[in-house]
Amino acid sequence: MQIIRHCGALKHHVTGLRQRGGHIAIVPTMGALHAGHMALIEAAKAKAAHVIVSIFVNPMQFGPNEDLARYPRQDEADTALLASAGVSALWLPDAQTMYPAGFSTTIKIAKLSDCLCGATRPGHFEGVATVVAKLFAQVRPDIALFGEKDWQQLVIIRRLAIDLDLNVEIIGVPIVRDADGLALSSRNAYLSDDQRSAACALPKALHDAGSAIAAGADITDTVGKARHTLTAAGFAPIDYVAVVDVNTLEPLTIFTKEARILAAARMGSTRLIDNLAIKLK
Ligand code: AMP
Repeated sequence: MQIIRHCGALKHHVTGLRQRGGHIAIVPTMGALHAGHMALIEAAKAKAAHVIVSIFVNPMQFGPNEDLARYPRQDEADTALLASAGVSALWLPDAQTMYPAGFSTTIKIAKLSDCLCGATRPGHFEGVATVVAKLFAQVRPDIALFGEKDWQQLVIIRRLAIDLDLNVEIIGVPIVRDADGLALSSRNAYLSDDQRSAACALPKALHDAGSAIAAGADITDTVGKARHTLTAAGFAPIDYVAVVDVNTLEPLTIFTKEARILAAARMGSTRLIDNLAIKLK
């Protein structure tokens, strides 16, 4: 596995891969790798001859009062993990490489970026869309893999790829969870033992609400109950619990087969997100 830190070396590496033939996949990450990231890499290897993983803690997607400074950084451990994962290259640019002096461009995906997480994290998805567009321009992948854990992000990236004719197939990978149901996340490392135990109320609340809605319960009532459950478990504030159309992210008040339940809430200072497909029984 090559560790690449500069655009020129990346271009050279990608040109070499193209000459060898076969598809190139990219797996964009912010590092602090866990089994969720590794599932994306495995899915990438099944689809493409060459897999490039990027690790970049993207300052553009963090708000002024968010956790950019304390976001877990473990490049050495990540590199060791990737070295045995069958990856062609690790793209490890620094902020100066990604955003040199004079950088002025921002990509905004209207509507999809403003709801759900976008409502409490203004500018977040502009940062995500901009960095992903840059990664696609740098690597020119045939395939890009994103986790369903960040459902809104996945929907936004699909829109980005279509709208800008990026010629990249976007693949969503199912959420990898701990044994108690909590979705793996680099941010879980912030949780104390007590908070970690309490946090499994989030997937449980979504699961219970999803089952109730699939069995015919009223969506508004059920979402209200899920919010109460989360509050009782110690989540505060609850940014949202919402049942939305999987593609448009429009809120649903009547169950359809395209429904997904999404939530974001804080456990202490740690903001957790999760989501689940609602499947008709
Ligand atoms: P991050 O490093 O948190 O920016 O995540 C990088 C990619 O890994 C994103 O596409 C995430 O959706 C995905 N990802 C993170 N956690 C999980 C998980 N538990 N299961 C599946 N994919 C995940």
